[in-house]
Amino acid sequence: MTSAIISDIHGNVEALQSVLTAIDAMGITDIRCLGDIVGYGASPNECVALVRSRNIPSIAGNHDKAVTGELSIDDFSPAAKAGVEWTRSIATPETLSFLRSLPYSIQEDGVLLVHSSPDRPEDFRYLLSFQHAEESFEQLSSPLCFIGHTHRPVIYGEEGTEKEIGRNGRFIVNVGSVGQPRDGDRRACFVLFDRDAYRVTHQRVEYDIAAAQRKILDAGLPQKLADRLMIGL
Ligand code: ZN
Repeated sequence: MTSAIISDIHGNVEALQSVLTAIDAMGITDIRCLGDIVGYGASPNECVALVRSRNIPSIAGNHDKAVTGELSIDDFSPAAKAGVEWTRSIATPETLSFLRSLPYSIQEDGVLLVHSSPDRPEDFRYLLSFQHAEESFEQLSSPLCFIGHTHRPVIYGEEGTEKEIGRNGRFIVNVGSVGQPRDGDRRACFVLFDRDAYRVTHQRVEYDIAAAQRKILDAGLPQKLADRLMIGL
């Protein structure tokens, strides 16, 4: 069976719809979400409603917990803060209660799903280099761990970055971001995990960036949040 793993939608319903359309077209029905469904983008309620209506098992991201008030935004950047505050102002009770219900991790058979890092997932550390990943491997008991949070797709093995996973050794796979990629590729990013072949592949899909930008500007959110979608950084 092949599963699709998505993360960091960030209120970008245009990107989420394109990704779900691509997943549906491949006949894949098993989907997981690694959190940050909201924050930055202008369609948080729509994104939560889509994830809920598709019964996609999800975990909590730092923006999700910031919007519910469970996490302080003192360390957030000005644009991130603005995104959280705006999202709070329009979040429906259904959105807030769904975000509150999200766990910090999901442990499946041989697979750990977290938002940020396998060690203390509720601390939301950033795994931006192999050096950071190396420390996380010390705490990783599963052979495979999927993460998001940095918005940069990458596969870490125990010796360094890798092109693919394998049945020997342990791997931490960053699935990239659906709604705000930061690796210089503006297309929405997610992962396919073929559980039988034990293979992970990053996927990219185009979406209506202009529409997502227009909504951000119409909402009065910072210009920067619209601009970065076009450059993918
Ligand atoms: Zn994020």
